[in-house]
Parts: sequence; structure tokens; C-alpha cells
Amino acid sequence: MPLGIDVGGTKIAYGEVENGTIIWKEQISTPASQGEIIQTLKTIILSYKGNRIGIGIPGQVKDGEVLFTPNIPLSGIKLAKLLHQETGKDIFVENDANAFLIAEAQWGVAQGYKNIIGITLGTGIGGAIMINGKIWQGVHGAGAEFGHMAVMEDGPICGCGSRGCVEAIASPRSIEKWAEIEKQYGMPTIMDNISMVEIMELKDNDTLAKIAYDRFIRYIGMAVANLANILDPEAIVFGGSGVLSWDIWQQDAHAVYERRVLPSLKGQIPWLKARFSNNAGIIGAAALAI
Ligand SMILES: [Zn+2]
Repeated sequence: MPLGIDVGGTKIAYGEVENGTIIWKEQISTPASQGEIIQTLKTIILSYKGNRIGIGIPGQVKDGEVLFTPNIPLSGIKLAKLLHQETGKDIFVENDANAFLIAEAQWGVAQGYKNIIGITLGTGIGGAIMINGKIWQGVHGAGAEFGHMAVMEDGPICGCGSRGCVEAIASPRSIEKWAEIEKQYGMPTIMDNISMVEIMELKDNDTLAKIAYDRFIRYIGMAVANLANILDPEAIVFGGSGVLSWDIWQQDAHAVYERRVLPSLKGQIPWLKARFSNNAGIIGAAALAI
């Protein structure tokens, strides 16, 4: 059975996974320095009796090398090779959105599909492309960075340095931030601590919640239609915290999407809600090592 390690900006979560089910798991705070993080990973791996370990990283990864991680000091590290040399075990390192899609194809809602795209909605918007059963990493490790599709000229500044990326407009976190600013500028609302859950629940009863909700579904629907028109996949899998309210927004976003996809694609590509939400990072990482 593989060990999955999910390296996040605030915590490192890890556990053993059997056929998509967590057998046990642990987590610790992510240390600040590169040396401490690598030492921590080494300790976790050496304390595990098995031989196959998958590691998910929120950043760009190519052939086991971490090329760029904005929130964790591992950029430029050949992590798979380094940890293999230090521990003698088989180590597989991959972008966390890619790991998510591999897990859904292996054990989740996308079993049986070989040509699929995955979209994770959370703080940012992550993406993954699987073609003929294989992940497309991109030539420079930046393949499937769906969140950085520009959908609004002169839109909000994005963490990547560009403007108007869909992640800066319609990720759950970006929608919350946008609504917070509108509230500060006096838009009437009964929302208190503005959250995506609150926006979803109050969309029919609150002016600001309704406008924020419409912004979310409009830009998600448009962005996903762009992807469908480019890639024409068998199915699209949605994951991340944004799918906690899937039953509320899915239909409306899908209606926007249907208006924008090519006629030959209308009604053809199922939208699937990920099977894994809690522990998705650990399960995705473990799926790399099966
Ligand atoms: Zn961007």
C-alpha cells in the first residue's frame, strides 16, 4: 500500500491509503525552512514500513523536480531524486491538482475515463489534464494552470503577476474578498463574516450575496467552456472546497457553460463532483505511487 504525503503551506498531512480509503493519517505543521521541510519528509518516509511514496505539491512540478511553489520554499529542488537517495525508497512527486485527478481516475468518479480534465476550486483554481490516461505536465511544468486563464481585461491583479485571471475573479477565496470590499464600500448586505458558504446560502435573500454568486457562476461557466472548447474531454471533474456547495451552484454555472460551448459539445461532457474532499490531498498523493 502506498503512503501519500500532502505538502501544504501550513501543514504536511500524510497517511496510508488502500484502494482510495485512508487506513491511518497524521499531520504536522509545515516547517519554515527548506532544510527542515526536507528533513521532515525524510523522517516521515523512513518511519513508514512500505516502499512506495507519493508526494503532492501545490506548485509546478516536472519529472519529480519542484520548479516553482509560491508558498513553500522548495522551488528548484529535485525532490523525488533527493528523497530517493536519502531513503532508498520509490518517491513520486507531482502537482497536487494533477494528483487529485489521478486519484479520481483511479478510485473516484472518473474511473473508466482516460481523457478528462480536473478543476480544483479553493484559495486558487488548480487544473489537470489527462490524455490517454497520462497527465500532461506541460513542457515547462506549467501545464493545465487553468486558474491563470485571462477572462477579464484589466481585471483584478492575480498572484501570478497578471491581471484578470479567472482565479483572481472567481475562486471561492476571490469571491469572498470581492464581496468583503463591496460591503466596505456600502453595498447592502446581511452577511456577517462573508464566506462562500454564506454567499451560497443567502443568494436568494441578500443583494450582495446574489451579485457575488452571479459573478462566480458567470466566470466559472465561461472558463470551463473555454477549456471544453479547447480540449473536448470525456468528462470534467470538480474538486476543492468549492464543491462543498456543488448542489447549489452546479446547475447555474452549467447553464452559463452550455451557452458558451460549441454546438457539437452541448450536452456531451458530464460535469462530475469529486469523490474525495476530506483527505483528497493524501489520497491524491498516494495515487501517484500505486
Ligand atoms: Zn494569474
